Amino acid sequence: MRILVSNDDGIFSPGLLALARAASEFGEVRIVAPDVEQSSMGHAITHSRPLVCRSADVGDFEAYRVNGTPADCVALGMYRWGEVDAVVSGINLGLNLGNSTWHSGTLAAAKQAVLLNRQGIAFSAPSFDHHESYEPLVPFVAEVLDRLLGDEGFPLVNVNLPAEPRGLRWTRQSVRHYAGAVVPGEHPAGHEHFWFVVKPVEEVEEGSDRWAVEEGYVSMTPLRLDLTDVDALRRARASFEGRPPDRDAPRG
Ligand code: MN
Repeated sequence: MRILVSNDDGIFSPGLLALARAASEFGEVRIVAPDVEQSSMGHAITHSRPLVCRSADVGDFEAYRVNGTPADCVALGMYRWGEVDAVVSGINLGLNLGNSTWHSGTLAAAKQAVLLNRQGIAFSAPSFDHHESYEPLVPFVAEVLDRLLGDEGFPLVNVNLPAEPRGLRWTRQSVRHYAGAVVPGEHPAGHEHFWFVVKPVEEVEEGSDRWAVEEGYVSMTPLRLDLTDVDALRRARASFEGRPPDRDAPRG
């Protein structure tokens, strides 16, 4: 099995090496990751300048750094390697729970794999400085990979690991409201600048990704790329279809 490893923290992230080590138990591993941090870039792609892929020194792995986004890295990595079976992304230095999935570059790398008809699994954990801190998580990452890799029933899974896991749980994405707070500060040069801060503002609901990690479990959330609101679509079709256009209805 060919497993492409990427991330959004950059090629020299300690979490990337831990994930590559875990994945290497399951097949041939190649790393293609951004040359600098691309956190919170979401599913951005680079279309207005060329991308360059340079080799990099990451453990004993064949590794490449790319001057692009996580999604770029996956697209380029799959193009250059050929028959990739799965893409694993992370381990992100920071959890990607609930609404973070909208901003996450880690998850975007996994989503890019799914767009290209391959399995994508994203891994995130609390942020640690040293790769040794990620070593205790490797057995849990391996357990998740053992369950999921190659299973067509799980094309896209968002996995979050607490610092000291005590088991695994299947969860749903928490979509409670959050504060996209803007916090002003002052730049050393004197002008005002701003930090964008994302915090949940409602309590966690049992069964959600956030709940599982707070309870000390590895959270596994199966996701899909189809964002269609199926209930709204059903209501819309029931209300509007088959009726002649109403010429007197107000526009706008
Ligand atoms: Mn990151």
